[in-house]
Amino acid sequence: MRTVVVVGGGAAGMMAALAAARGGAQVTLLEKNEKLGKKLYITGKGRCNLTNDCDREQFFAHLLHNPRFLYSAFAGFDNAAVMDLLRQSGLPLKTERGGRVFPVSDKASDVTKTLTGLLEEAGVIVRLHTAVNALRVTDGRCTGVRTKDGTVPADAVIVATGGLSYPSTGSTGDGYRFAREAGHMVTALYPSLVPFNARLSCGLPLDGLQGISLRNVEIRVTAPDSDKCLYREFGEMLFTHFGVSGPVILHLSGVVAERIAKGPLKLMIDCKPALSDEQLEARLLRELEAAPNKSMANVLRTLLPAGMVEPMLAQACIRKDMPAHQLAREGRKNLLSALRGFGLELLSLRGFNEAVVTQGGVNVKEIDPKTMASKKLPGLYFAGEVLDVDGYTGGYNLQIAWSTGAAAGRAAAAGPAM
Ligand SMILES: Cc1cc2nc3c(=O)[nH]c(=O)nc-3n(C[C@H](O)[C@H](O)[C@H](O)COP(=O)(O)OP(=O)(O)OC[C@H]3O[C@@H](n4cnc5c(N)ncnc54)[C@H](O)[C@@H]3O)c2cc1C
Repeated sequence: MRTVVVVGGGAAGMMAALAAARGGAQVTLLEKNEKLGKKLYITGKGRCNLTNDCDREQFFAHLLHNPRFLYSAFAGFDNAAVMDLLRQSGLPLKTERGGRVFPVSDKASDVTKTLTGLLEEAGVIVRLHTAVNALRVTDGRCTGVRTKDGTVPADAVIVATGGLSYPSTGSTGDGYRFAREAGHMVTALYPSLVPFNARLSCGLPLDGLQGISLRNVEIRVTAPDSDKCLYREFGEMLFTHFGVSGPVILHLSGVVAERIAKGPLKLMIDCKPALSDEQLEARLLRELEAAPNKSMANVLRTLLPAGMVEPMLAQACIRKDMPAHQLAREGRKNLLSALRGFGLELLSLRGFNEAVVTQGGVNVKEIDPKTMASKKLPGLYFAGEVLDVDGYTGGYNLQIAWSTGAAAGRAAAAGPAM
């Protein structure tokens, strides 16, 4: 019987162990934490958005890096397959807005419970509190792993150690070291799906905006010295004490993670994207004419959350105590353009501690996309976030873990093709 060791008991590792055991191998799953799936518990705000119930085309459209690499793994174990597996194992699921799939119980822990039950049934040996320190390499093959208690020999090893995000869950990047030691290239690593540190372009402090949530705004991002748009999207965002967050901002981070490492970017918020220029001007004129003696600050409160009024006026170079009737044509033009492009400077990404995923990882050119086998070291396989594949929020990142885990597990159990 072939022996397989899986390093890391997260989503990818559990799926890999299950697939390898069902493929006939004797499987040992090594996890350094006190329990399996520590990160799974906090996914989807504790509800676990475990996949997305979309079609194939939509799935790949939501991957940020190396989608083609996943074609084969997704074909072998797709979103329908993971939903079937969990439902047939007694976990009812539901689909919410945007195709996001959750357990009906809204408990991420139920996903882990279901998977651990399946691992037990399949005879997988789970060893907790067991950190792998290194791969064991004998005669140019990976033949097991080393832990502080000694060697665990195996015919095949699957590295499913996750990335660098939320290191408190155990994802501390060990797999990148194992990969490099095995001769692999690891691409540059960035936090992704993460908020930004930012400041207001008008120079006022950000404090007054903290906690303001903007729905249905359009954001545009450019380099500071160019008008070339790097990103443009509608959605919801949030001001925090350090900068900006919220769904559309997390999305943005996935697109510009690498770019912002080279320097700050300009963010412009269209506060009224649903109105044409003419409609916006007419709306503003209406407000000004309705209260000619009110201050500009008071007038703008009818259009914006209170905390945004002062910085908006500052950006448009308008005194906040100026009576509305004194606003000349030029001032109105400035105000309209500020409402269309409220400016912030994006300084940097928040760190890995706050990132949903890691961008970058083991170079997929050195991995067989059908089997997740290393092209550098026979007997070695990779699965999950440790690979240079990542997606947007919505269940796509866990699906990457399930698909690559299943592919690696099946292949590791089958052994090298003769
Ligand atoms: C707050 C948060 C919310 C998220 N929500 C969602 C969501 O709702 N939907 C979604 O699709 N994605 C979500 N994600 C992303 C998703 O959780 C990850 O993409 C996914 O967990 C990656 O799975 P993995 O198995 O590759 O890695 P991990 O889940 O990180 O598992 C790796 C495991 O390996 C173990 N390990 C590491 N090194 C060693 C070692 N040397 N020896 C032994 N064990 C080791 C770790 O302890 C860990 O248990 C979220 C992420 C975060 C941080």
